[in-house]
Amino acid sequence: MAGVADKVVEFFAGSKHEREMKRLAPVVAEINAREPEVAALSDEALRGRIAAIRGEISQALVQLPEAYVERRRLVQATLDGYLVEVFALVREAARRAIGLRPFDVQLIGGIVLHDGKISEMKTGEGKTLVATLPVVLNALTGRGVHVVTVNDYLAHRDADWMGRIYTFLGLTVGCIQNQMGDTERKLAYQADITYGTNNEFGFDYLRDNMKFEVENMVQHGHVYAIVDEVDSILVDEARTPLIISGPSEISVGLYYEVDRIIPRLQRGEEIRDKYGNKSTTGDFIVDEKSHTASLTEDGVAKAEKLLGVPNLYEPTNIETLHAVQQALRAHALYKRDDHYIVKEGQVIIVDEFTGRLMPGRRWSDGLHQAVEAKENVKIEAENQTLATITLQNYFRMYEKLAGMTGTAETEADEFAHIYGLDVIVIPTNQDMIRADNPDIIYRTEKEKWKAVLEEIIGVHEKGQPVLVGTVSIEKSETLSELLKRRSIPHVVLNAKYHEREAGIVAQAGRFGAVTIATNMAGRGTDIILGGNPEGLARAEADPLKEPDAYTAAIEKYKSKCAEEREKVLAAGGVHILGTERHEARRIDNQLRGRSGRQGDPGSSRFTLSLEDDLLRIFASDRLREWMKHLGMEEDVPIESRMVTRSIERAQKQVEGRNFEMRKHLLEYDDVMNKQRESVYRLRRNVLEGREGRDWVLRGAREIVESLVDSYCPEDKHPDQWEHEPFERELKELFGLALAQADVSWEKVNRPQLREAVTAAVEQRFEERERTIGAEQFRQLERYLILSVLDAQWKDHLLALDHLKEGIGMRAYGQRDPLVEYKRESFDLFQEMMERVEDQVVQYLYRVELVQAPTQQAQRRRPLAHREVKAEATGLQGERREAQHSPTTGPPTTVRRSTPKVGRNDPCPCGSGKKYKKCHGASADQAAG
Ligand code: ADP
Ligand code: MG
Repeated sequence: MAGVADKVVEFFAGSKHEREMKRLAPVVAEINAREPEVAALSDEALRGRIAAIRGEISQALVQLPEAYVERRRLVQATLDGYLVEVFALVREAARRAIGLRPFDVQLIGGIVLHDGKISEMKTGEGKTLVATLPVVLNALTGRGVHVVTVNDYLAHRDADWMGRIYTFLGLTVGCIQNQMGDTERKLAYQADITYGTNNEFGFDYLRDNMKFEVENMVQHGHVYAIVDEVDSILVDEARTPLIISGPSEISVGLYYEVDRIIPRLQRGEEIRDKYGNKSTTGDFIVDEKSHTASLTEDGVAKAEKLLGVPNLYEPTNIETLHAVQQALRAHALYKRDDHYIVKEGQVIIVDEFTGRLMPGRRWSDGLHQAVEAKENVKIEAENQTLATITLQNYFRMYEKLAGMTGTAETEADEFAHIYGLDVIVIPTNQDMIRADNPDIIYRTEKEKWKAVLEEIIGVHEKGQPVLVGTVSIEKSETLSELLKRRSIPHVVLNAKYHEREAGIVAQAGRFGAVTIATNMAGRGTDIILGGNPEGLARAEADPLKEPDAYTAAIEKYKSKCAEEREKVLAAGGVHILGTERHEARRIDNQLRGRSGRQGDPGSSRFTLSLEDDLLRIFASDRLREWMKHLGMEEDVPIESRMVTRSIERAQKQVEGRNFEMRKHLLEYDDVMNKQRESVYRLRRNVLEGREGRDWVLRGAREIVESLVDSYCPEDKHPDQWEHEPFERELKELFGLALAQADVSWEKVNRPQLREAVTAAVEQRFEERERTIGAEQFRQLERYLILSVLDAQWKDHLLALDHLKEGIGMRAYGQRDPLVEYKRESFDLFQEMMERVEDQVVQYLYRVELVQAPTQQAQRRRPLAHREVKAEATGLQGERREAQHSPTTGPPTTVRRSTPKVGRNDPCPCGSGKKYKKCHGASADQAAG
């Protein structure tokens, strides 16, 4: 053990990581000390130990505290007591089941994961195996462990591969795949351990909360999740929320109409005079930094003329204006074969990080339609949100969260701030000896590609495998063309071939291999120097159908790959050639990390040009001046650490800005998140029968109270009470005539009125219960609450979208848009909940049964919905007339002044304060 500790000390002298390693070294020593004892156990005995520990743990956890903090503390403390033994058992099981014995650094990685932190371990360090250690330990509580991967292929691969360890130890494992139905999903979730992608986990959560029967729900709780490639999922993917949507009625013709005029508008720019006053030229301005496009004053006038619309900023033209703005973005910012491709009449998004195609995904807010119009393909009808959650808020639901990746430290702030996750950098098992060369920079892209081509050819002639990273499919293909012309054999790995990605990347380490890949394509697949014999054999013979041929092929390739490995080692290992720097350093590090794994030799270099996006848009003027000063010549690059540093500064800046953007979006989402939680909680309580009758009666009483407050207010003399509307609404809502309450207006005072009417309302409720039959009535009640709540919540989501759009404008009025948004969305939420009560009460009191409600209750939602990840559109920067009256459904009959939220509940505005200390305080004031 001293070995690891020593290595660590020199690696991180003085850092937080070093302290962590020092803290964990004795634990690792203890696990190692257990090894001989554990190794002596039979397979049966190993399983027996695990079963026994499982029993002890469930004993210790019979009574779980309600409160989250205490619960987490108790579970963690209990498991800590078994960590050493369980890790020793898993290590032995891994050795026996799959022939891999976890290294000491892997044990450390496992402890960090168990502690609910992020293990940063380089590519090829064996993180898949690392996860099994904490997974087994935590699965012993029987409360479920989720392992989250970036795609279905990896979920499946890892569940199979690591599943051999779990089943060896007597645990069960399930795997969620995209095409699975609910029955299979439910089974997978019932297993001790469940593998799946972030999207599947998130969508299952949303779908569960649209169901009408508890038995149909597939998930049970969010206890512990380990997220693999955690930066990709919790940072990159988290930019876009998960959305389940259904069709809405907005016309698609508008997008074609608007699209026609875009080519006739002139792109202009913003200019500042020497006093700093801004003015604009042309018809529209594009801001690449903030990814927006907007019309200028002149542009507005011209668009109005071309479209034959007198005033785009009139409320009735708000849709047209919005369509124009999206069309501008579609034309100016979204490039074909870069951001999307067109295939079989469909616009398919290309994921900006992986370069993968995302069929079925759509940009939100009309952008997709605008791109479809631009490409002149059929426009799909616009969709309306039925349910949505951000990945941040999904993953924050877990009692304990952990993650692993090769590249997390550059984003440590974000992990800490958003998820409360600490990043611990774990040293490699073998020393890293890859040589990272400084960037070289050419003046133009053309010169750059010429140089890239020469470099590939040079490396290829030595037989050194080279992996070329590009930022888009388009660029991969251009390069591929150039290589073809020079007859260099190569494979292109990009979105179009994503099923084959893993198989291709696995062979990228063969002698003389040239592989071109878009960003991070094939992430999660190991590049073995000399090639992967299994993959090669599989291409020749199916291991299941032709086992003999397969075994023969494996033998053949094993020796061939071993031979090639020697040659590749001599040639210097895998060479990484980056052709553009990404906005985030992390993505570049990810590319570099494909080489030099487990002590392999390797090298990397980025070849850039001043015309690259990052340099063009973000690099400082100073750098450009300096480069000019050096006198760049054609085909003569500059190679300098100073340039590399300067690019790094630009990247840090962009990273910071992107983080701010994500934080900002999240602040808005947090408001809705609180509301979603309370709606889902109510839903679940109703579904599980904990809420129903009382909820309706409470609502009924409140309605009576507000009727009295509205029409017979305290500050008015009984002569001035409004009898007529009072009676009308009483009839409308409860089907009740005042006479039935034994009230005569002449002889009644206010408290008497309230009491008498309340009593009559309650009595009528009981009558209906009796006539219809208590059991049927409960079903009807449940069905009504759920369907009204769902419909109103859906409308509310739309209202919030509109509110968010309009709110950007408020910033001009010196008001903080977020504060405004919180306030207004809170009001909207209150109104919505009131509408739910009003409607449910009204239906329940008035509905006549013609059909048994059971059949209705079992009917599934009629809407055909689909799941998308929306593009996160910026909240600010869009010049739109403020429109503050979003559709809020049918008008309410009465308005309540009393709060619908318990005084000690968290305030739905999302402030985190108790309701009575926040909005409840002002409500009190207003009422009193
Ligand atoms: P990562 O996810 O960290 O990039 P993987 O989990 O894909 O790495 O593993 C990379 C390779 O290392 C795999 O081929 C795996 O078989 C191998 N490996 C992992 N752990 C060990 C170990 N303890 N001993 C030997 N090989 C290992
Ligand atoms: Mg991995």
